[in-house]
Amino acid sequence: MESAKIKELAKSFGADLVGIASAKTLNDFPPDPRWPQTPDRVSPHCKSVVVIACRIPVAVFRAKVGSVVQYMDMVVLRRMDQIAHKIAAALEADGHPSFATAAQETDWDYKNASYGRLSTRHLGIEAGLGTFGLEVNILTPEFGPRVYLTGILTEAELQPDERLTEQVCIGESCSRCLYSCPTDAVKHFGIDKRKCAQAAQEFGFMTSLALLERFMDADGEQQKELFRSRDMFGFWQGLTRVVGSFGDCPRCLAVCPVGNDYHAHLAGPQKAIPEKTDDKVAKAKAFKQARQQGDPIDGLNEWNKRWVGPEGYQGIVARQLQAFKKAQQQRAAQLEEQTDEVE
Ligand code: SF4
Ligand code: SF4
Repeated sequence: MESAKIKELAKSFGADLVGIASAKTLNDFPPDPRWPQTPDRVSPHCKSVVVIACRIPVAVFRAKVGSVVQYMDMVVLRRMDQIAHKIAAALEADGHPSFATAAQETDWDYKNASYGRLSTRHLGIEAGLGTFGLEVNILTPEFGPRVYLTGILTEAELQPDERLTEQVCIGESCSRCLYSCPTDAVKHFGIDKRKCAQAAQEFGFMTSLALLERFMDADGEQQKELFRSRDMFGFWQGLTRVVGSFGDCPRCLAVCPVGNDYHAHLAGPQKAIPEKTDDKVAKAKAFKQARQQGDPIDGLNEWNKRWVGPEGYQGIVARQLQAFKKAQQQRAAQLEEQTDEVE
């Protein structure tokens, strides 16, 4: 089966974006060579990875309640698993052994943290779907960071897509993700995972573990109190409904000005960032200065800049906004014409 056919199929099954990465490239460029998240550690027979992205409905980023984002995250992830499984089945029917990976699976032995066998962000970038943002989410030109991704590992040798070399993220002069972050976890094209988890995984694995430790150390009365506490309820809810265990903080996704979904529906409600402080502004300024001076920056070192976009920011968001406005004007003119004809 050819790459174009696979893409057509993936779109017909419901994927919003689809790209193809070569397994050899992914094996040669692990995100962190100390803990290689590479296809060959999953299956030595894999030749290509079909990467699909599904967008998170923009309406949830206009809501006042964060949990609606998390519910949609779960719905999108389950739907995406089904789409990925259908693509794998079609490839198998065509004679190429293939399987879908679990998008949110993590492997404890890699870093004792939420660290998957494959990094879906890196898969997406290698498949030409986007580049890293300042907060190291993948930014797709179409939907910014408001997407989930997964990969289908196949033994078919497919024509891979070209990586984007232009940086999609506006970078230090934007820094809106940094300003919005409630735990100040955004680094210079990096993330402090522990800090991020405080808001994004309020009842994630480490919090649940800490609660169990507190419970074991407590005396009888304290244990009774703990049973009735918000933390215990959060622990139960995280286990049974997954609520609070991941994707609990939508802020850096909501405020990122990349993507037509932002221009159409978020530019108004997300314009002001209440979490912005003088300290965060100073931090962004220091990032900008460090880059201008050519200071060593981990997130932009020789290995990592591959995924940030080695050509740097060339104005993709401004071009996209212009095209979006033009399309809107054309649509408005067409509507006016149709109304005139009816009258
Ligand atoms: S998910 Fe929330 S806590 Fe994590 S980096 Fe984004 S804004 Fe910060
Ligand atoms: S909010 Fe701005 S700086 Fe942050 S990822 Fe998006 S474009 Fe980049």
